[in-house]
Amino acid sequence: MTDSPLLPAGTTLWISGARVLLPDSDWHAPAMADIAIQDDRILAVAPRFEPRPGAPAPERLDARGHLVIPGFVNAHYHSHDVLAKGTLEQVPLEQWRLYALPAQYPPRSLEEVRARTLLGALECLRSGMTTVQDMLTLYPFDPAHLDTVLQAYEDVGIRVVFSLQYGDRKGLDTVPYWKDIFPAEYHHLLSSAAEPEKRFDLLGHFEETCLKAPAKARRHWALGPSAPERCTPELMARTVDLAKRYDIPVYSHIYESKGMALQARLELQQYGGSLIRRLHAEGCLGPHMNFAHSVWLAPDEIEILAETGAGTVLNPQGNLKMQCGLPPIKALMRAGVRIGLGCDNCSCSDAQNMYAAMKLFSLLATVSEFRKGPPPAMEAMKAATEGGAAGARLGHLIGKIAPGYKADLSIVDLADPSFVPLNSVVRQLVNIEGGRAVRHVMVDGEWVIRDRKFTTVDEAAIFDEVEAVMPTFRKDFADIGARVAMLQPWLDQAQEKMHASDVGIERLPRLS
Ligand SMILES: [Zn+2]
Repeated sequence: MTDSPLLPAGTTLWISGARVLLPDSDWHAPAMADIAIQDDRILAVAPRFEPRPGAPAPERLDARGHLVIPGFVNAHYHSHDVLAKGTLEQVPLEQWRLYALPAQYPPRSLEEVRARTLLGALECLRSGMTTVQDMLTLYPFDPAHLDTVLQAYEDVGIRVVFSLQYGDRKGLDTVPYWKDIFPAEYHHLLSSAAEPEKRFDLLGHFEETCLKAPAKARRHWALGPSAPERCTPELMARTVDLAKRYDIPVYSHIYESKGMALQARLELQQYGGSLIRRLHAEGCLGPHMNFAHSVWLAPDEIEILAETGAGTVLNPQGNLKMQCGLPPIKALMRAGVRIGLGCDNCSCSDAQNMYAAMKLFSLLATVSEFRKGPPPAMEAMKAATEGGAAGARLGHLIGKIAPGYKADLSIVDLADPSFVPLNSVVRQLVNIEGGRAVRHVMVDGEWVIRDRKFTTVDEAAIFDEVEAVMPTFRKDFADIGARVAMLQPWLDQAQEKMHASDVGIERLPRLS
């Protein structure tokens, strides 16, 4: 006789014998558990199930020697520059924009748009991400590009929280000193993350074709006002109105670099030089709001986020590479501000790898203040799962392994040097594993990676599709590189002036 419960009726997949990272388990040594899945949902979890006599046996995965964790949520990402991975290093943010952002490029082919979307999604999935928030700039906007992107996500099978990136102020007007320092004949070359779309109402189009479209299981919508300084109060108000009406999240960049904090100091004197105070006064803050980066938040601004329930998404890889600085991680945690984790663009972070993001988060948290904070590996894991899920307004569906939740899972092989000897699962996930041990990945109850092989798409064929579009991309990237080189003297001058300015807080080590 055994006290184990019977496998629940309706189970379609039984994952047995693995260690399972449950919300209330000891994350250093999670116990063995069985997971019963019915179609797209987790039906039940128990230390062990007994087969149901007489009932047809469901599919069973013997997962002994493995660890089941919730799929990661890549809470900040842009698929528009996947092909630029590995092209840059040591580039300050304001200069990086001139290499990476769609407004710099000639229009792209549908083949390129499809190939880059698939490639980015493959890399996300390989490191156990099951959800990605794509804040996509399509410039100039072409509805066929949008359709291509959405179809690519559907084909590969990752869960997507999709937003278009938009703004209604020109980039040149939102970067300190550029307008004065650059000769006027070069002003048209200085665009930003989302240039105003003049031909038609992008947000209206998004509402009609996306927000009002029939729901799909793995597709969720979001809004992407590029950054508050690139959006007028009218556009922000419209964004918040849509977010509330459709109950969807908003993602916006804030205070990524010192230049962005300086722009606020220069432009928003009526709000004490604070973007957060401006947005608060405009009624834009609330639980639906997510601020990517948040590196140069001041202490009083952190308090306002905590009070209003607005959250952050940290992207440590890009912040370091682009000399932006160290986010105030312990202060955010102490205030109770929601934190998600992202890998941002491929040209600034290179890797769509949540293990890399978690490790940097944990280490930067450690040095963000000398006084002790919460255990950083645990917090990194929570940010990569629950934090990102809550920010997407999907905290009731994903980010945890619990009955009723979506079966979005990553199964990690513990027979990997990362986990031998097994001293602390959570510390070894965050500080040692890099994605090598990810063996199976499931989204919405469907295997997307089984035994390290994609089941939904042909990975080698996608790599061929990428190679086919690279000659055009490389030529355009080289042209852009030459243009940036021509602009370099003025870029350097503006950068120096920005760094010499005082914004009242410091987020960079003293760089000489
Ligand atoms: Zn971004």
